[in-house]
Amino acid sequence: MNTFKAPKGTYDLLPPDSATFLAVREAIAAPLRNSGYGYIETPGFENIELFARGVGESTDIVTKEMYAFETKGGDRLALRPEGTASVLRAALEANLHKTGNLPVKLWYSGSYYRYERPQKGRYRHFSQVGAEAIGAEDPALDAELIILADQAYRSLGLRNFRILLNSLGDKECRPVYRAALQEFLRGLDLDEDTRRRIDINPLRVLDDKRAEVQKQLDGAPLLSDYLCDACRAYHKEVRELLSAAGVVFEDDVKLVRGLDYYTRTTFEFVHDGLGSQSAVGGGGRYDGLSEMIGGPALPSVGWALGVDRTVLALEAEGVELDIPASTSVYAVALGDEAKQRLFALVTELRKAGVATDMAYGGKSMKAGMKNANRSGARFAVIAGERDLAEGVVQLKDMESGGQEAVAMDAVVTLLKDKLV
Ligand code: ATP
Ligand code: MG
Repeated sequence: MNTFKAPKGTYDLLPPDSATFLAVREAIAAPLRNSGYGYIETPGFENIELFARGVGESTDIVTKEMYAFETKGGDRLALRPEGTASVLRAALEANLHKTGNLPVKLWYSGSYYRYERPQKGRYRHFSQVGAEAIGAEDPALDAELIILADQAYRSLGLRNFRILLNSLGDKECRPVYRAALQEFLRGLDLDEDTRRRIDINPLRVLDDKRAEVQKQLDGAPLLSDYLCDACRAYHKEVRELLSAAGVVFEDDVKLVRGLDYYTRTTFEFVHDGLGSQSAVGGGGRYDGLSEMIGGPALPSVGWALGVDRTVLALEAEGVELDIPASTSVYAVALGDEAKQRLFALVTELRKAGVATDMAYGGKSMKAGMKNANRSGARFAVIAGERDLAEGVVQLKDMESGGQEAVAMDAVVTLLKDKLV
């Protein structure tokens, strides 16, 4: 029989590399947990209509990348391609915006699915950690989120990332700009798909990666010239708060998230070591989204950082995370009786908080010690018939190689003192 392979565009996380993924998730979550964000988990799939409305009918995500299916019961669902729509749906459904203080601050971590052309940094199954602050319009909140992402990346030791920042205006000034942009774009030499996009989602054309499109965009009207006073003041305050916090950013007047309900602050984290998949994370304000999915007006802001690309960024910078060996003590027994005694000791050590493993499968002493070595354990606890008779175990320091006999009933306390 043929052996199975992971589906195209996916990969498995295996030890020891999987430890880096966990550490990255932890490092991104830590500043959020420390800043009033509560953990939320939503289903891996939702009603497809939520994404159609909450991500946008005109986006690549919805038109090309979604894993959509119909259940046996006739429900039309899709695997989640992103987190924001689900989080907002869940918050609205549970009335969090009525029962708690606003903003409702939530963070999440999980798997997302997009049917994309797989390449390095672009997968069909990937991981994000994200944060959403729902129900408040306050430049300090936009700044907070950007500062927390910056802090997360810095805590991981990343240095070669940049923060791109822009404002997309609001329902006052955006439509004026949109009309001006449409007029400009209609005068260009563009293919039919792109021309259609001018009507539905003209800002997205600015984001077109193709050189033949980009070179025509040189004289395009800029949103920054169209911002109303309120948006201008809001953006100024976000920028001042970031600067005061020592967070370096670059103004990027072409940075768009071309959905109608994205408003004002928009930002992206890019890493220069990643080639064409350079965005490690992105986010912004989405003041209109709640209403789009049937909720009340709830101005909100959020971001999602890609775990896979963050790990690639660490590799690109040659950053090795300081991940301690997962096993501190490794037990090796010789003979059945010793095995039983050591198994009890191992259980006790684990209860005492000492990370402990042991040799299984009736191995020889030599093979058992090889395992102990590979585990990265600091100490080996070894026992045979003779040790049992004397009521001791042999405690071997795996760094120095030194070995001493320790009374069986003193081992837990001794190792706890040395390790915990
Ligand atoms: P891109 O322009 O590279 O397609 P995007 O704008 O679609 O990115 P977002 O929807 O903003 O990405 O998602 C936030 C982050 O999630 C990205 O910055 C990236 O790190 C990660 N991400 C998005 N799609 C993928 C994917 N297919 N594979 C791996 N990571 C992804
Ligand atoms: Mg994409």
